[in-house]
Amino acid sequence: MATLDSKLVGVLGDRTTKVLRDLYGYLTVGDLLHHYPRRYLVRGELSDISELNEGDEVTILAEVFSASSRRLQGRKGNILEVIVTDGSAKLSLTFFNQAWREKDLKIGKQGLFAGKVGVFNGKRQLAHPDYELIADGNDVDAAVEGFAGKYLPMYPASSKMPSWKIAQCIELAIGALDEVPDFLPELIREKYGYPTLHQALVQLHNPVDLDSAEKARERLTYDEAFLLQLLLLTRRKELKGLDAVARAVTADGLLKEFDSALPFELTAGQRAVSAEIENDLAQPHPMNRLLQGEVGSGKTIVALRAMLTVIDNGGQAALLAPTEVLAAQHLRTIQTLLGPLAHGGMLGGSEKATHVTLITGSQSAASRKEALAQAASGAAGIVIGTHALLGQSVEFKDLGLIVVDEQHRFGVEQRDALKGKAVTPPHLLVMTATPIPRTVAMTVFGDLDVSTLRELPLGRQPITTHVIPVLEKPGFLERAWERIREEVSQGHQAYVVAPRIAAGTSEDADIDFLMGESSSTLASVEDLGPLLSGGALQGLRVAPLHGKQAAELKDATMKAFSNKEIDVLISTTVIEVGVDIPNATVMVIMDADRFGVSQLHQLRGRVGRGTSPGLCLLVTSALAQTPARERLEAVAGTTDGFELSRIDLEQRREGDVLGASQSGSRSHLRLLRVLRDESMIEQAREDASRILDGDIKEYPLLGAELAQIQADAAAEFIDKA
Ligand code: ADP
Ligand code: MG
Repeated sequence: MATLDSKLVGVLGDRTTKVLRDLYGYLTVGDLLHHYPRRYLVRGELSDISELNEGDEVTILAEVFSASSRRLQGRKGNILEVIVTDGSAKLSLTFFNQAWREKDLKIGKQGLFAGKVGVFNGKRQLAHPDYELIADGNDVDAAVEGFAGKYLPMYPASSKMPSWKIAQCIELAIGALDEVPDFLPELIREKYGYPTLHQALVQLHNPVDLDSAEKARERLTYDEAFLLQLLLLTRRKELKGLDAVARAVTADGLLKEFDSALPFELTAGQRAVSAEIENDLAQPHPMNRLLQGEVGSGKTIVALRAMLTVIDNGGQAALLAPTEVLAAQHLRTIQTLLGPLAHGGMLGGSEKATHVTLITGSQSAASRKEALAQAASGAAGIVIGTHALLGQSVEFKDLGLIVVDEQHRFGVEQRDALKGKAVTPPHLLVMTATPIPRTVAMTVFGDLDVSTLRELPLGRQPITTHVIPVLEKPGFLERAWERIREEVSQGHQAYVVAPRIAAGTSEDADIDFLMGESSSTLASVEDLGPLLSGGALQGLRVAPLHGKQAAELKDATMKAFSNKEIDVLISTTVIEVGVDIPNATVMVIMDADRFGVSQLHQLRGRVGRGTSPGLCLLVTSALAQTPARERLEAVAGTTDGFELSRIDLEQRREGDVLGASQSGSRSHLRLLRVLRDESMIEQAREDASRILDGDIKEYPLLGAELAQIQADAAAEFIDKA
């Protein structure tokens, strides 16, 4: 008999075992049994093609009438279209990038096809249907009868492993399976009326009815939520148990001097979050805190105050930024905010003063050498940098605090690489301007404490956003350029954002692909510059900015813009996060439908940062009522970043939401959806924390399962490193 840990090779043939390993990395019976069906073909519920309605989930018995594949125009990929008929009518089946199915779906072949009815170009179709073909020579009635009273599971499949073959393997595995011990504590199982693990696996692959399949799926989904929360809460407990150097606020230090020189009052939110952070820093255990805040809510100052607290205690702080533009801006901002307090070691510097230095990938060898020396000697209290900070050659005298700005671009691994540069575990503050719903925070950052800044500083001006549909209202675009000229004539500045650096190039080929557009028609920074300065924006001082420029040029351009020597900055998304020029009041975003919802929200956060209201114009050729247009209307309709990030997340795939760190084999989320399963995640977190409040040793099976996941996650981390 087999257990979940038994090797597949003992249950299946050598050849099949190898295919499953090569295709999916499956090694054990458990791996295979966690290959879940997408849906079931239900015998007795066959539909006539002529009676199908849009949106119906259907199964039909039909014969292949024709099959043809074609390349997509203007982008990679192909479409296979198969027409089937059941005598009553014809129906089109479409497959994207699965031309290999043409071999399967030969004319005259009969089978059961299942999917959701859609309509395209007025024709009904099933996109990516599941199917089960009837073997040649088999009697159709007998074959269909063979499914009688049964639910036929349909698995995610591929050319080498069709669904029926997977079903066969799973049947063999279940047949060989001993009673599976259940790691889920009985009190939890009973609380929700879940089947045992053994029952759930059997019912999901071979249900007696759809209700029990659903219950099984629910139980297995809960398992994912529960184990993940258990893992994150355990990690959090472990982190809290580590020793760190406590860095309490001192009576008279840099922080006190800084506060008394600050030209404005901190908002109530900034004060509250600062207090939380100061409390964390004063503990002899490392802080692990996520600070999420609305765009422009003033996170930098909160972080700077934490850095000063650590410096007052003899430590150093590292500030990690996602781009060189942002790193350079942080250097300028922090030097300005600190004033004489940043002139450590210089004539006229305050006695307590520290030094701020910058380490980036593209700086000159000489300035890098100097910066490295200052970090290593401890002369620099604050070291700002891009991922170059993670490099081998970067050393600190006493790294006490790591601040990661705009977390969504830095993974856990990178955080860990930086932590490795400290003698004792440093305190960690992670900042993100992309607010995330509570359950996502729980799932992605479940090992961190979370602080939130919702409030904007007093006097901050509202941002108005309008959609400019160029195809429907061509005149509106002219009006957009006019608005820029008006703002500039009042002494303000503007941004024009384009999705491309140059025609035909892409900073994000994926977007191209997803939107199915050829990039040649899209606005680009290099084309817009001459176009606008020779036309609609004639006479204004216009300058380009993009990621491919040399660091010195980018830096010089940003400086000139910030010194008001440039009126209009034409740029790619390099200005997406963090750029802070209060005098800029208008932003025109070209081909705005190319950007994600949260990205647009970030981008427009660059205007309205001073005392004048901000205006953001979203230029698009997307037509009314298309999903692309609706996303833009949503952005125009609200400035609530939390609401927008929800909309954004709903449109993204789970893997993108969770990032690479959650894709380990055992900890891999197959069923759980962070937004759909919100209440389940909340409950799972409560259940997990109750278990951890007690003694997990009372649940040896659960402890073993958790240890296994931790080991897998660690192995995966080593693989990546
Ligand atoms: P974000 O949270 O988006 O990173 P920043 O930290 O860049 O925001 O702050 C945005 C702007 O608001 C900066 O110019 C900063 O100096 C200013 N600011 C921050 N806190 C306050 C405050 N309490 N009162 C007035 N202005 C503030
Ligand atoms: Mg910021």
